[in-house]
Amino acid sequence: KRMMEIRKLNCNPMTMKVTYYRSPVFIHQGHMQWLWDTEGRRYLDLFAGVATVSVGHCNPKVTAAAAAQMKKLWHTTNIYVFPALQEYCEKLASRLPDPLKVVYLTNSGSEANDLAMLMARLHTGNHDIITFRGSYHGGSPHTMALTSNSAYKYPIATGGCVNTMCPDVFRGPWGGSHCRDSPIQTTRTCDCLQGQCMANDQYISQLKETFATSLPSQIAGFFAEPIQGMGGAVQYPKDYLKQAYKMVRERGGVCVSDEVQTGFGRTGSHFWGFQGHEVMPDIVTMAKGIATGFPMGALVTTAEIAASFARGAHFNTFGGNPLACTIGSSVLDVIQEDSLQQNSHDVGTYLLTGLAKLRDKHEIVGDVRGKGLQIGVEMVEDKVSRTPLSPAAMSDIFEDTKDMGVLIGKGGVYGQNFRVQPPLCITKDDADYFLAVFDRAIQNYVD
Ligand code: PMP
Repeated sequence: KRMMEIRKLNCNPMTMKVTYYRSPVFIHQGHMQWLWDTEGRRYLDLFAGVATVSVGHCNPKVTAAAAAQMKKLWHTTNIYVFPALQEYCEKLASRLPDPLKVVYLTNSGSEANDLAMLMARLHTGNHDIITFRGSYHGGSPHTMALTSNSAYKYPIATGGCVNTMCPDVFRGPWGGSHCRDSPIQTTRTCDCLQGQCMANDQYISQLKETFATSLPSQIAGFFAEPIQGMGGAVQYPKDYLKQAYKMVRERGGVCVSDEVQTGFGRTGSHFWGFQGHEVMPDIVTMAKGIATGFPMGALVTTAEIAASFARGAHFNTFGGNPLACTIGSSVLDVIQEDSLQQNSHDVGTYLLTGLAKLRDKHEIVGDVRGKGLQIGVEMVEDKVSRTPLSPAAMSDIFEDTKDMGVLIGKGGVYGQNFRVQPPLCITKDDADYFLAVFDRAIQNYVD
């Protein structure tokens, strides 16, 4: 009966394709980290509309600011300057280090990355763009070429984009979570074949080798997420990104930090994910958490790169409309006033520690990683083979978690990761509730 219902939804051209759960969840109301379905059931939302609802659903402060703006002005396009636009651009630029000060506003992350591709090519005069394996940078025909996971791609318009590198610190020959920046300990301290850990050096030599042997000598740009999101909270070994930036610049390319998921305090320790890698990008793109669910995106770059965007005209009918700017501005205020970056760090570390205990308890929890509230849990058949847990098993645990009142996400190249990317306002009590539910769902599956 459930399958019939889903099929009906999928076949009806008047309805969206709904496939995330075995049976659709009809959500009709939200408040902060909570959602309610049409039957009145309440869910703890640990996926936040795919890492988007940064300061909570219908956050009262943001809602009040938006309502006031709605009575004043909704739309003019960016052919006029209006106070909300000016205030927002200044406020956003003040959150970024020099020389990243020129702001362009869009409606989504894909649009921001599209613009970044164009700027990189115009600025450098080169064409080729490099991204990491496992990355996601958008679903528009251009950005689809940057995205590496074949599940999100159609083989069109991919010319000039190379998806390469990216170590699998869990499965790779030198894998071990000691290589990455993590607040938790791993049970496996060292997997290197020689019995002594040289992980970072080896990853970096592999990266250099890839650049030397398989990449073009001239590059327009390099895009990377500071911690991969759709890829399943994939973290790079220490200094990996720094080395990649260096080699990209040697080939004439610009470096783009895709902060669509990692920006606005999500990683806890820093406001932007790139700050955790001690690198300075030439272009930063962002969306999702920027406006806690209102459609908005942005690109921030240097005056020099902006100048080579020659005609100077960035026309976008809705990008940076008064409502979006007001909401974006209010989100920045709330993150600061309510110390949400600090909360992301504190509750994130608490969650990671709790999840690490579940990893040590359950054979099918292979790896727990991430920082702040950008968390992934990698599920396996067993810890020795590290074979990704089957989609059917993933689905059983996922559905059971939902039936016990907690919504999480899925991701990873083999669909083997659970993703925990909640609104930044969740509490330690929420974390305890989730850990108990998740433990039970895993145990139910194992039994
Ligand atoms: N970059 C990253 C890192 C993303 O996760 C996404 C969306 N999942 C995008 C870009 C594209 O953003 P949008 O869906 O707003 O176009």
